Amino acid sequence: MIGIKTQLLKGKPVANAIKSKLSTEIKRLAAQDIIPSLAVVLVGDDPASTVYVRSKQKAFENLDCYSETFRLPAETSESELLELLLLLNVDPKFHGILVQLPLPKHIDSKKILLTISPDKDVDGFHPINLGNLLEGSPTFVPCTPNGIIQILKYYNVPVSGRHAVIVGRSNIVGKPMFALLCQKFEKGNASVTICHTGTPDITNFTKQADIIIAAAGIPHLITGDMISEGVDIIDVGINRVDDDSIKGYHLVGDVQFDSVTGIANSVTPVPGGVGPMTITMLLVNTIQSAKNSLT
Ligand code: NAD
Repeated sequence: MIGIKTQLLKGKPVANAIKSKLSTEIKRLAAQDIIPSLAVVLVGDDPASTVYVRSKQKAFENLDCYSETFRLPAETSESELLELLLLLNVDPKFHGILVQLPLPKHIDSKKILLTISPDKDVDGFHPINLGNLLEGSPTFVPCTPNGIIQILKYYNVPVSGRHAVIVGRSNIVGKPMFALLCQKFEKGNASVTICHTGTPDITNFTKQADIIIAAAGIPHLITGDMISEGVDIIDVGINRVDDDSIKGYHLVGDVQFDSVTGIANSVTPVPGGVGPMTITMLLVNTIQSAKNSLT
């Protein structure tokens, strides 16, 4: 479809602008002998989780922050994991604790996330931090939704007074995204609709949207015929699609990119859109926690 020129909302320039501000804060903290430090707990050897953990470690090292990965075998018991978290909660060396999800089935993720001290919960998944966000006084904001807000800010995408439609209601993307967009914040004050697997006809809502946040984890769920001209689209999806390449797969988003181009006002690419933001916001939260430790 050739219509309007669709702007590409790339994540890298946004992430780089934030990281350059963070460098100054990190130097300031270093002058006070504080190095923002993150404990990452990885249970088992899920290949995607291993890749994510490695990228987090690299991002921390690149900015002269510290990240240590605690690798536990897949058969680690829930009580052993809880014991480690209780130790990390009181270890002054770490300002942030992150348990890489998903966890093996025999471990109750809810119990694990509840055990992480809210003061070190740099993923922002603890009910206290999620509650603070919902109440309008955010402490640690979940990284992906916060990264999306930074993209909207950087590219001056208007939000206030517009209709934002979120597709997906997970605790890590959809729900906190709702909590952010509906607040009377600088990039908020929108009327927000959440669609999910219980929504009979999501097109009914996506057609009415001024902003679409696609976070369902379904390849190419949103197509050009489901949107209206001028919509701004944030594609959160990262989906592996098998192919004949050496890697055996390629990544696609929840949005069928080619079919929305020319109709949408803007869209984030996959990869290279929301992806680079998530780890950057993890740095933001860990540095915030390190600053909090001074008070
Ligand atoms: P999830 O599986 O926990 O949640 C998906 C949600 O989408 C569910 O609430 C479900 O109700 C809804 N959904 C599923 N199919 C639907 C359909 N056909 N119509 C309407 N709603 C539907 O997933 P998640 O953890 O929120 O992640 C969503 C996607 O975002 C995944 O592709 C994931 O890989 C990606 N993701 C990317 C980043 C990033 O850094 N870019 C971070 C987190 C997640």
